[in-house]
This record gives sequence, structure tokens and C-alpha cells, in this order.
Amino acid sequence: MTAAAPTAPFRIVHTVCSHDCPDSCAVLVTVDGEGRAVKVAGDPSQPVTQGFLCGKVAKYLDRVYAPDRILCPLRRKSGAQKGPLPRGREHEAFERIGWDEALDAIAARLQETANRYGPESILPYSYGGTIAALGNASMDRRFFHRLGASQLDRTICAEAGGVAWNLVYGKKLGMATEDFRLAKLILAWGANIHGNNVHLWPFIEQARRNGARLIVIDPYRTRTAALAGWHVAIRPGTDAALALGLTHVILNEGLEDRAYIDAMTHGFEQLAQRAREYTPERVAAWTGMTAGEIERLAREYATTRPAALRMNYGVQRSENGGTAVRAIAMLPVLTGAWKHRGGGAQLSTSGAFAWNKQALERPDLALASSLGRLARVVNMSTLGQALTELGTKPEDGPPVHALFVYNSNPGAVAPNQNAVRRGLMRPELFTVVHDLFFTDTTGYADYILPATTFLEHTDIQGAYGHYFVQLSKQAIEPPGEARSNLWLFGQLAQRMGFPEACFHDTPEEMIRQALTIGADGHSTNPGMEHITLEDLAEQGHLPLGFHRNPETQPFQPYASGTVPTPSGKIEFYSDTLAAAGLDPLPGFLPPTESRWGKDAERFPLEFLSRKADNYMNTTFANLDGHRAMEARTSNRLEMHSADAEARGIADGDPVRAFNDRGSLHLTALVNGSVPAGVVAARMDWAKLSPGGVNGNALTSERLTDLGAAATFYSVLVEVAKA
Ligand code: SF4
Repeated sequence: MTAAAPTAPFRIVHTVCSHDCPDSCAVLVTVDGEGRAVKVAGDPSQPVTQGFLCGKVAKYLDRVYAPDRILCPLRRKSGAQKGPLPRGREHEAFERIGWDEALDAIAARLQETANRYGPESILPYSYGGTIAALGNASMDRRFFHRLGASQLDRTICAEAGGVAWNLVYGKKLGMATEDFRLAKLILAWGANIHGNNVHLWPFIEQARRNGARLIVIDPYRTRTAALAGWHVAIRPGTDAALALGLTHVILNEGLEDRAYIDAMTHGFEQLAQRAREYTPERVAAWTGMTAGEIERLAREYATTRPAALRMNYGVQRSENGGTAVRAIAMLPVLTGAWKHRGGGAQLSTSGAFAWNKQALERPDLALASSLGRLARVVNMSTLGQALTELGTKPEDGPPVHALFVYNSNPGAVAPNQNAVRRGLMRPELFTVVHDLFFTDTTGYADYILPATTFLEHTDIQGAYGHYFVQLSKQAIEPPGEARSNLWLFGQLAQRMGFPEACFHDTPEEMIRQALTIGADGHSTNPGMEHITLEDLAEQGHLPLGFHRNPETQPFQPYASGTVPTPSGKIEFYSDTLAAAGLDPLPGFLPPTESRWGKDAERFPLEFLSRKADNYMNTTFANLDGHRAMEARTSNRLEMHSADAEARGIADGDPVRAFNDRGSLHLTALVNGSVPAGVVAARMDWAKLSPGGVNGNALTSERLTDLGAAATFYSVLVEVAKA
């Protein structure tokens, strides 16, 4: 029997899931007459959402109405030491205060810090806690620009891959998600589609029903790998070698599309020469595949039409991750896969959304700050160094004296956790955290401010896994005294005495700014010219201009024409890199922390701090229902049987994984999920892990070859029975 449809006074509100996921689902929220959300469901009219939500967000009301949600501003009690308290006792270090008192005190302290040390001693820290346009980057940027605070280089997740993709194609565009259904071969490279891009999955299933084959390249046996026709479990950080090995075979066997290459690319001869070095035998020695497997994979990829490649950001979290993405991104160019509908590649679609960032973020406000210029830039992937070393050299500028955290949980997600914590523990560091729960970061806060979920504020959103603009309407009032970061930074700006009118903008006004709504009511942003606020409010989601008639006018980027690179062509060879003194062609260099590295004798195992299927990094990891779905690998270290036996470890034994940066106490799980020489532990809240640390106790602050991003997957450890 199906449940009866709700009747008045229920109402259904169109929202958008703003968690850091390619799918950006259209979510219909049913709200009862008391103003309480009683149901969330995927919007069946949104062509990618298709009426369903992932396991994480299907249970979203557990998060919205969680009994331990922070519902009022909190101030650290006088004399309460910084540092994590056990779960359930976190509130003991804090006292409740009102918003006015909190905002006044925070504004006064930031002003005092700016006066005393210079405004660059204040560091904002945020990332993808929400990816909606306003909540992700708008009033916060205005505030920190006007203040003259250090700028944050937001590199932690996608920068290496983004820079790499843009070097080849000039812009982050890819195949339309819906077109994967037409593919005959789908190559998922570092992409756990079933786990964290699940709205692509129905299109893959549709393709498979029509005879397509799914091949997964991933060192870890993900849910997607387990469902694939072929799982290629290569060694971490060897993706560039494999891509160049495939290039070698494709060219050696004449499987390339010469006409397409001649018409569309720059630097083919140089790439061909480079690829000669990457014989299958040589690449086999790096990747752990056989030469025959490399040849088979190359032939299958190059001769199947259409062939779709889905790469995700896992690939680029190695020291050579930028180059790996570049080399992989070149494969559909060599084979001409872009010419065929259902062929090509997708890393991100975000380049299609031309929001008016100048209007939203107002970098010009930096000129009105006491600095009179844009402030220095601090890389978020080296937060430990920023908090413990920055400012020790005169050219650095001041040390960080105030840290403002929102949309992120650096106490859990930043690499080199012990260095980050040493920094957060500095008694004189003033720390504010805006969040929903007592996280691994709030234990170090002087003030905690209660944040909203996407049900509780209005926003507008694009996606990095489809081509729809969506309006997320506020469905319910924020519980307690929770407030959006838009409101928070507007209020703080006013208390700081910033006179600019933009600090009074409402979300509705800022949505108009994001869309650059013109006199005729239409957006003037490229690709959004058909969009009006009225249509968006009525329909909830509208395709970008080039995706309005996908059946008659399918979007096939890079099938023909020019591309926005310096040469106007797809670039195998980068003059930009050459001019910077870097290798203009992709090549394979083993990561410093890999089995070929100098420390491999002491720490011979490659460690993956992998993502959970049912958390979003560490978001959701505090909820019992979500934890239950991840119970199988909770506090487990996944090992290959050869590595376990060599250390006298049996499945279920307590073990310690360690390197010079830290150690993890876990239980061995010898389950065939990783190849020999690799161990894996799932990301979790540190405070819910043994010893109060998670996998980032082992990761380093070394940066990627392109984009200066984090190298979460280039980590060496040793493991011993505990
Ligand atoms: S997390 Fe991703 S798949 Fe899940 S509802 Fe949000 S956008 Fe959709």
C-alpha cells in the first residue's frame, strides 16, 4: 500500500542539495502546517535527479532535527582549555550567549587583531560545506576583502584536476551526464560513481542494458568497482603512467583519429614522441598491471564507439595528480571520442555556470580595506604550516592570529592533522566556527555560531555534474537561533562599520546579482540569457542555454571548433607550462611518498584515507543512521592478505598504522579491497575514531604538481600488530 499524498496544510518546496557532490539534486521538501519538514524526496521532473536521492540525503531530516544540533551562539567559558572533549560533553567548555553579544565581541576582536597585527593576520577558512552560489562565496568574500583579511587559496579538493583540465581544454566542460546512456564503453577512472555520483548511475545502467561495458580504474575496490565488468586495481599515484601507456599503445597501433587530431589539437608530435617512452612493459612495472592488460585496455577504449570517460577528483590527490589528470584528459582527444554523442569525458561541468562573481564577491572592496590592496594568499592545504610557521620570516607577513571557519571542518579534513591541531591549540589564536554540530574543529573555538542547512535559507546553484541552474527556496525557518553565513557576514560587516550598501543585500537581491538580471528581466550571463527569476521560481530548475533541446541539439563540447586555450586548440603541449619552466608534456614521476620513494624502506605501504559512500567527507559522520551504513569499515584498516601475513596480522587483529607524522589505532580488515602494498582507512570524524585522530594524522602537507593542492593519496606508512 502506498502512503496517502499529503493534503493541505502541507506544502512542497523546491530546494537543492548543496552538499559537495556533482549531482546537485533537486529536492522537494514537504512541510506541514506547523512549519516542520516531514519529508524530502528527489524531484522527478529534474532530468538528472530523476526522483531519487542518495542514501545520505534521503535521511536528511535526521540532520535537520538532530537532537545534538547547535541552536544558539556559544562562547568558550573563561578558563576552559582548548582541545576536544568526548562526544556528548563538548558543551561543557561553552556557555550560551545571544547573537548580539557574540557579534559585538567577534567584531571587536577582529578589529583589535587587525589594528595590532594587520588585517592579514586574520584568515578565513571555508570550502564546500555548501556549494550553492551564495552560501559558498558571496557575503563572506565581501566581508573579508573589505577587512583586508588574508585570502584563502581553496585548493583542498579539486584544484590540481581543475588546473590540469583547463590546461588541455581551457574550460571545465564535459559530456552531458544524460548522454552517458548512449555510450558503449564507460571508463570510470578514480570515480566511485555508485558511491558519490549516484545520479550518473541510472544512465550507466541504461547503457549497460544496451550492451555497454563498464571498466573501473581505481586502487580501491569501491562499490562501483565491484559492479564493473573489469576492475583495474592500479597502484596509487600511477595514473599518469597508465594514461601514457595507453597513449603509447593507441599510437603504436594506429588507433588514433588523425583527422580529428589534425583539426583540433596543438602539440601532437611532441606528445607522440613522449609517449614512445611509455611502453606497456615499463608501465606495467609501475601500475601493477600486466603489459597485456594495458594493451587490451587501450585497444578496447580506442576501438569502442562511443566511449565515455568519467574521471573524478580522486585521481588528482596524488603528488603527480595534476599531470595524471592532464594525461587522462588527452585520451578522448587521441581517439576522437568527443565526436560521437555518448563519447568524450567528464571531470566537471562547473565551467558552464558563468555566475557574476565580481558582483557576488566584490574583490574591489579590498581597495577600501586598511591594506588598500588585495591581501596575501594562504593555501588551505597547508593549514598546519599556516598556523604554526607562517610569519616566522619577514617576507611572510604576520602570523595568523584569528581564524574564521565556516563551510568546513579543518580539524578533521585538513592534511597533517597533528600540525593543524598544534596550530589550533595556540592559546592566543582567536577562532570562530560557524557550523551545525560540535565537530573536530569546534573543540578549538572561542566562539561557535549555529549554521543553517539548505532547507533553511534561499540560494541559487549550478553543478559540477550536470547543466541545470536551480533555485533553492527556503523551506522551513531555521531551528533555534541558527543563521546562514550570508546573514552572519552581513551583520559582522555592519558591526565593523563598513559603510557599503552591499552588506545589507538580501538573498533575493544577491540572486539577481549572481544572474546579472537585465532590464528585461532576463539574465545576461553567457548561457543563462533565457533565464528569468520568475521562470526559475516556478520551475525550480532550468537547463543552460546550450542544453535546452538535448534531443535535437545535443551538447558535444570539443567535437569541433575552437577551444579557450592560448592556442585555440586542445593542448597536448602547453606553452604556458613551458614558459613557466615546467614540463610542457605529461610525464610520470613516482610520488615522493610511494613504493619508489626514499622512505619506502621505513614505511613500505601506500596509505589511502578514502571517502565513505554515506558521508560527505566528514559531514553526516556524526549521525547514527549514516554511521550504521558505514559500520562494516568503521575503525578498520583494510589490508591485502600478503601484507597482513608478512606482519603476522590476521583479520580482526588490532593494528597500528604509522609514519613520522602520526599513528592510527585500528582493526585489521583483510578483505581483498586493496592491492598488495596498499592499505586503506575510511575518513571519519577524528573524535569518533580510536585515539581521537583520523587518517589525516598520517597525510602530509606536500602539494600537487599542478594547482598546489593536497596530496591525500601520496602517503607512506608502516603497519604493525598493536
Ligand atoms: S549528496 Fe549528491 S546525490 Fe546526495 S542528494 Fe545531495 S546532490 Fe544528490
